[in-house]
Amino acid sequence: MSLTQEISLPNGIKYEQPLGLFINGEFVKGVDGKTFETINPHDEKVITSVHEATEKDVDIAVKAAREALNGPWKHITPTERGRLLTKLADLLEEHIDVLAGIESLDNGKATQFAKGDVQAGSYCLRYYGGWSDKIVGQTIDTDSTSLNYTLHEPIGVCGQIIPWNFPMLMWSWKIGPAIATGNTVVLKTAEQTPLSALYAATLIQKAGFPPGVINIISGFGRVAGAAISSHMDIDKVAFTGSTLVGRQILQAAAKSNLKKVTLELGGKSPNIVFPDANLENAISWINFGIYFNHGQCCCAGSRVLVHEAIYDKFLEAFKARAEKNKVGNPFEEGTYQGPQVSQLQFDRIMGYIDEGKKAGAKVVIGGERLGDKGYYIKPTIFADVNNEMKIVQEEIFGPVCTVQKFKDEEEVLKLANDTTYGLAAGIHTNDLNTAIRVSNALKAGTVWVNQYNMTHYQTPFGGYKESGIGRELGSYALENYTQIKSVRIHLGDALF
Ligand code: ADP
Repeated sequence: MSLTQEISLPNGIKYEQPLGLFINGEFVKGVDGKTFETINPHDEKVITSVHEATEKDVDIAVKAAREALNGPWKHITPTERGRLLTKLADLLEEHIDVLAGIESLDNGKATQFAKGDVQAGSYCLRYYGGWSDKIVGQTIDTDSTSLNYTLHEPIGVCGQIIPWNFPMLMWSWKIGPAIATGNTVVLKTAEQTPLSALYAATLIQKAGFPPGVINIISGFGRVAGAAISSHMDIDKVAFTGSTLVGRQILQAAAKSNLKKVTLELGGKSPNIVFPDANLENAISWINFGIYFNHGQCCCAGSRVLVHEAIYDKFLEAFKARAEKNKVGNPFEEGTYQGPQVSQLQFDRIMGYIDEGKKAGAKVVIGGERLGDKGYYIKPTIFADVNNEMKIVQEEIFGPVCTVQKFKDEEEVLKLANDTTYGLAAGIHTNDLNTAIRVSNALKAGTVWVNQYNMTHYQTPFGGYKESGIGRELGSYALENYTQIKSVRIHLGDALF
């Protein structure tokens, strides 16, 4: 199989799609010659096949990353690292139409949101480019005969494993802080969505990164992903994905070389509406909270909690709003919700919908597939649920939310925090005291007030409880990619 293929996107753009593994600055075939297909979730047809990385390819990529780390990358100035990241950010913006088109084709996300992802990815890279020459240690005064200082050194070769729900955005969130702090990277994309990252690898070449600094490989979790997390020469692994796999990665790291691990995992986030909220705004945010990206967000506001005084009115208006979301072909103007990413995800979500119906929850809208081709599921709202139901406790990762009633703040906090997850939460109120008091009491890494799903590259993101370890974005992410060396210099004669 060749290393490129011309692809015509439904939006009329024709482009050259790389298919190889991007290792040491060039596209290559996998050692074992394996390939795998990637499917268009809109029509269930094969788009193309890409080369698959196995353990041997991971080894080659790690060697390239190690050599780059000990070679040209070691001597590069922080200013130059920043310039390269900024250049890559510019290139992402220049290629936004093709990149967003690839996302819509391979992932199924509506073009308007796919563009938003690429734009946000570009901002993220530019932001971390700005950090490159501002990473500083401390001098610490202990006594007059000592000079103490700290160095914030790169950790080394970083393995990065990303999911399929935000291919370009996760690519940028991972690469930005790792490169800004002087590490090298072997990044594995999700097997469902390999295409945009490979196209973006051509932009890494164009930006002028030395070979081996950023390696991008396509492959399966249990093969290439496992090879990364158990590799003896990878110093750190950063993972975004399910809590189940997060545990496996932590175990693999513990069993191998105790590489540093950061995890951004699942969620079952509460989105709370107080009776004084601006109802129209709240409903738009609740709608966006669950149906944005077809519910395939780790921070999706999948548990809607509404005060009893406005419950009936809310449910009626929310239903009307969700019914207006345009569900369909991601390339069509105005589409809000496209297909789910894969048959497997589609089946999982439909399984949860059946489960909810069997448990006695009331389907307010949706509860079934849309059409008979493509992985489309109607926006679904369940009411009359309780915290014992699976649909209230488990991450569905689809366009399905539950709506519950509460009578006071004490009850809503109990309901909201009654989960093993702690990624995000939303509060809708016009009362500043309520907003601050409830934010303080929620066990979640991000609390959105009068908005939802609005991550920003300057503000940290990550989970409490089983939603993860560490924080991405903002200056906080730099800590994931640096290790601290403490240097103590004694001034004067021997003490003992
Ligand atoms: P999902 O269930 O939503 O597909 P996963 O957590 O399974 O999410 O996948 C997220 C990423 O983790 C993907 O890149 C996938 O290939 C990878 N992955 C899956 N299983 C493993 C594993 N055992 N070890 C390392 N990576 C894995």
